[in-house]
Amino acid sequence: MSNKTMTQARNAPRCGAHARTTGKPCLCPAMPNGRCRIHGGKSTGAPTGKANGNYKNGKHTKRHKQFVQATKAIKAAIRQNNHAKAHGLIDGLETILD
Ligand SMILES: [Zn+2]
Repeated sequence: MSNKTMTQARNAPRCGAHARTTGKPCLCPAMPNGRCRIHGGKSTGAPTGKANGNYKNGKHTKRHKQFVQATKAIKAAIRQNNHAKAHGLIDGLETILD
Protein backbone atom coordinates (compact mmCIF):
# COMPACT_ATOMS: atom_id res chain seq x y z
CA MET A 1 0.00 0.00 0.00
CA SER A 2 1.35 3.38 -0.96
CA ASN A 3 2.17 6.09 1.53
CA LYS A 4 -0.51 8.30 -0.06
CA THR A 5 -3.20 5.68 0.52
CA MET A 6 -2.26 5.38 4.20
CA THR A 7 -2.28 9.18 4.59
CA GLN A 8 -5.77 9.30 3.09
CA ALA A 9 -6.94 6.53 5.40
CA ARG A 10 -5.55 8.30 8.47
CA ASN A 11 -7.21 11.56 7.46
CA ALA A 12 -10.62 9.95 6.91
CA PRO A 13 -13.49 11.57 8.82
CA ARG A 14 -14.06 9.93 12.20
CA CYS A 15 -17.16 8.54 13.85
CA GLY A 16 -18.50 10.82 16.58
CA ALA A 17 -20.69 8.26 18.35
CA HIS A 18 -20.43 8.39 22.12
CA ALA A 19 -18.72 5.27 23.52
CA ARG A 20 -20.34 4.11 26.75
CA THR A 21 -17.16 2.44 28.01
CA THR A 22 -14.82 5.42 27.70
CA GLY A 23 -17.25 8.34 27.42
CA LYS A 24 -15.29 9.57 24.40
CA PRO A 25 -16.14 9.60 20.68
CA CYS A 26 -15.77 6.27 18.84
CA LEU A 27 -13.19 7.62 16.31
CA CYS A 28 -13.48 4.68 13.88
CA PRO A 29 -13.36 5.74 10.20
CA ALA A 30 -16.74 7.26 9.39
CA MET A 31 -18.99 6.60 6.39
CA PRO A 32 -20.66 9.44 4.44
CA ASN A 33 -23.31 9.96 7.15
CA GLY A 34 -20.65 10.65 9.80
CA ARG A 35 -20.93 7.30 11.62
CA CYS A 36 -18.76 4.18 11.42
CA ARG A 37 -19.99 0.77 10.23
CA ILE A 38 -20.91 -0.19 13.80
CA HIS A 39 -22.72 3.03 14.74
CA GLY A 40 -25.17 3.30 11.87
CA GLY A 41 -22.86 4.17 8.96
CA LYS A 42 -24.49 1.49 6.81
CA SER A 43 -27.99 2.55 7.80
CA THR A 44 -30.11 4.52 5.36
CA GLY A 45 -32.33 5.67 8.22
CA ALA A 46 -35.91 4.93 9.09
CA PRO A 47 -38.36 4.27 6.25
CA THR A 48 -40.36 7.31 5.18
CA GLY A 49 -44.10 7.66 4.64
CA LYS A 50 -46.50 4.79 5.29
CA ALA A 51 -43.61 2.33 5.65
CA ASN A 52 -42.64 4.06 8.91
CA GLY A 53 -44.29 2.53 11.97
CA ASN A 54 -45.03 5.96 13.40
CA TYR A 55 -47.01 7.08 10.32
CA LYS A 56 -50.56 8.11 11.22
CA ASN A 57 -52.19 10.45 8.73
CA GLY A 58 -49.49 12.05 6.57
CA LYS A 59 -49.80 15.43 8.34
CA HIS A 60 -46.08 15.52 9.07
CA THR A 61 -44.63 14.19 5.80
CA LYS A 62 -42.19 16.30 3.76
CA ARG A 63 -44.75 16.41 0.95
CA HIS A 64 -47.49 17.79 3.21
CA LYS A 65 -45.15 20.39 4.73
CA GLN A 66 -44.14 21.55 1.22
CA PHE A 67 -47.82 21.73 0.30
CA VAL A 68 -48.70 23.88 3.34
CA GLN A 69 -45.73 26.19 2.73
CA ALA A 70 -46.64 26.61 -0.96
CA THR A 71 -50.29 27.30 -0.09
CA LYS A 72 -49.29 29.99 2.41
CA ALA A 73 -47.04 31.63 -0.22
CA ILE A 74 -49.91 31.64 -2.74
CA LYS A 75 -52.29 33.19 -0.20
CA ALA A 76 -49.71 35.89 0.61
CA ALA A 77 -49.21 36.66 -3.09
CA ILE A 78 -52.98 36.97 -3.63
CA ARG A 79 -53.28 39.25 -0.56
CA GLN A 80 -50.60 41.48 -2.10
CA ASN A 81 -52.56 41.50 -5.39
CA ASN A 82 -49.53 39.92 -7.08
CA HIS A 83 -51.48 37.55 -9.31
CA ALA A 84 -48.58 36.84 -11.68
CA LYS A 85 -46.53 35.56 -8.74
CA ALA A 86 -49.53 33.55 -7.49
CA HIS A 87 -49.90 31.84 -10.88
CA GLY A 88 -46.20 30.94 -10.84
CA LEU A 89 -46.54 29.48 -7.34
CA ILE A 90 -49.64 27.50 -8.37
CA ASP A 91 -47.64 25.94 -11.20
CA GLY A 92 -45.00 25.00 -8.60
CA LEU A 93 -47.70 23.53 -6.38
CA GLU A 94 -48.84 21.26 -9.21
CA THR A 95 -45.35 19.75 -9.39
CA ILE A 96 -45.50 19.03 -5.62
CA LEU A 97 -48.84 17.28 -6.01
CA ASP A 98 -47.65 15.04 -8.88
ZN1 LIG B 1 -18.47 4.47 15.62
